[in-house]
Amino acid sequence: MHVIYGGTFDPIHHGHLRLALEVSDALAVDRVHLVPCHIPPHRGDTGATSAQRLELIRLAIAGEERLRVDDRELQRAGASYTADTLRQLRQELGAEAPLVMVVGTDSFAGFDRWQDWQQIPELAHIVVVRRPGAELPENSGAAHLLAGRRAAGAASLRESPAGRVLELDPPLLDISATGIRERIATGRSPRYLMPDAVWQRVQALGLYGSGSANGF
Ligand code: ATP
Repeated sequence: MHVIYGGTFDPIHHGHLRLALEVSDALAVDRVHLVPCHIPPHRGDTGATSAQRLELIRLAIAGEERLRVDDRELQRAGASYTADTLRQLRQELGAEAPLVMVVGTDSFAGFDRWQDWQQIPELAHIVVVRRPGAELPENSGAAHLLAGRRAAGAASLRESPAGRVLELDPPLLDISATGIRERIATGRSPRYLMPDAVWQRVQALGLYGSGSANGF
């Protein structure tokens, strides 16, 4: 079973990392592949570049066998569409291999605005991780998809290549990249919200408005 977990990771933090390990435990898989998405240049210049976000992810997962980074979306020019990534993976894995996409409820809530969203359940299973404060709007495409395709349990995802939606509710850390960027921009330390190696590199690169004054 191939499991991908996509996001902006701007920057990666302990909330992301814990989520990935919780999912690996819950699905009993050896690997979770983090898939950073490409940020179009017009998003603004406060965040890190694609190459910098990738470097920070590599630092964050160093030595953790269960976490891998898949940089395929950064190799493609333009916007990153999950459907394209899943199509590519489906070709590589073959028609029969279970493929799983992990997403938090906050992202999944807007699922019916994603490019080719109706095709996504044909390409992969979806694991929705419940984030407190981010409920699925009633009558949304996401809520209907969940109701119609709900998986009985984690083991059932291995029985087919795609098409089921599994809700997980693991203990999560209430950390957001937005909160981290705000702290850094206002001179407060984000230490312990992200791995020390990531924070050190953020400072060395002067990202998110970090200056030499921050220190640890
Ligand atoms: P931002 O604050 O910039 O929106 P973020 O911290 O929410 O960023 P993203 O890169 O946008 O991170 O999120 C990638 C995925 O990780 C999403 O599916 C999101 O729901 C999930 N996620 C982000 N933070 C957490 C967390 N603390 N715990 C669990 N899941 C998280």
